Amino acid sequence: MKYISTRGHKDKLDFEQMMFATLAPDGGLYMPEHFPDFSADLERLAKLSYQELTSEILRVFIGDKINVTDLDEIIRKSYSSFRHPEIVFNQDFKDFQLLELFHGPTWAFKDLALQLLAGLLDHFADKTNKKLLILGSTSGDTGAAALAAFAGKKNIKIIILHPHQKISEVQLKQMTSYQDHNIANIALKGSFDDAQLIIKTIFSDTKKFKQHDLVAINSINLVRIIAQTVYYFYSYFNSSKKINYFCVPTGNFGNALAGLFAKKMGLPIKKLVVATNQNNVLEKCLNEGIYRSTDVLASISPSMDIQIANNFERYLFLLTNKNTSLINDYYQTLDPRKGYQLPDDLIANIADDFLAGHASEKETKQTIKEHYQKYGYVLDPHSAVAVNVAKKKISGLNEAFISVASAHPSKFFDTIEEVLGFKYNLPTEIKELLAKEPKVNIIENNLDLVIKFINDFTK
Ligand SMILES: *Cc1c(COP(=O)(O)O)cnc(C)c1O
Repeated sequence: MKYISTRGHKDKLDFEQMMFATLAPDGGLYMPEHFPDFSADLERLAKLSYQELTSEILRVFIGDKINVTDLDEIIRKSYSSFRHPEIVFNQDFKDFQLLELFHGPTWAFKDLALQLLAGLLDHFADKTNKKLLILGSTSGDTGAAALAAFAGKKNIKIIILHPHQKISEVQLKQMTSYQDHNIANIALKGSFDDAQLIIKTIFSDTKKFKQHDLVAINSINLVRIIAQTVYYFYSYFNSSKKINYFCVPTGNFGNALAGLFAKKMGLPIKKLVVATNQNNVLEKCLNEGIYRSTDVLASISPSMDIQIANNFERYLFLLTNKNTSLINDYYQTLDPRKGYQLPDDLIANIADDFLAGHASEKETKQTIKEHYQKYGYVLDPHSAVAVNVAKKKISGLNEAFISVASAHPSKFFDTIEEVLGFKYNLPTEIKELLAKEPKVNIIENNLDLVIKFINDFTK
């Protein structure tokens, strides 16, 4: 398998090069040159465990860059810290199923891809004697999942910036209570955008840290999307009904895109439903063809408070059948506030893949309440957005569907307590986490001070 840029750069990379490169030289994102087709093999794949299925799917994307024994060992280790024996689980309700993706170490779906990415990076770094330095910014879940995944890895150092005092208590403790020597956190006295800007500036001048290879771990890394295709197959195979739709809570469009990849790889579903919160740029784009960002509105589903969905560029690459000049027009000089308008023929094709909707704050709270009253089951706010949109978009179609649950409610327990009006009984692991003393490195919003911290840490 070769990987190519969404903006048409001539180089084709193999899996290992793509994983380390992150962004293409022309600023584009990497895509597989074609999709493998598993449609003739579904019956066999349906019998596999989550780990076995991951191995079958990844092998095709990685090619001969790794032997199967090594790959299987990486996969086994990646999922050994999950609390559920099946890794992901379809929870059955009377009117639909909920795909629980939150059984990993940091209680949100980002663990599924980041655990695997960490194992693969470590393997290839070891083979080539690379010393990796991973830098990232987070609004909460990605950073926590990345630190959990990279803690203790011997060839890798990792530093995650988060906006000081702007993340949930569980997220903070998850990022700041590690003992491992290879990881560090920075609480930046600024916003998430400030943290992201500092990281971007450092990546644009990587010579600053020349004794290390800098690697990015946000969802512009295609390995994460590939890893996320597995649970769509697994959930489909293990569903109690023949499923035609998945509904996906969406922010940066990584998870929904992974669902589309799965469809292109032969998963026999009709469509994916894209569910956003009140930050509904993607809903507007998928329904009306206009992509235009506005200010981010803070919501009770903060991991979806995103106006610039990086991965949408990858969907355009597929939708336009690799029209890289159009993508360059849209993205090279893109002012996200001016945005772009897709031509009518393309808009018509979106409906082959996606339905889209959003849930208001009120609707999200209402869904948490109703679902609890009906089933005694607590949805986290992100998962509730998806359930709300799924019911609005699919129920009338009379089709069986699976709604994706992206986080465990305990991660956002204060919102849950406010909505349901009682004290939420936290799992023991979260209680223990909350009792820990955080070690937070608070730093002013200043590039030089951040670089000094990194230099001291990587010495
Ligand atoms: C990251 C995140 C999302 C959004 O996923 P994307 O892949 O960015 O669309 C939704 N819910 C939770 C809990 C998340 O952490």
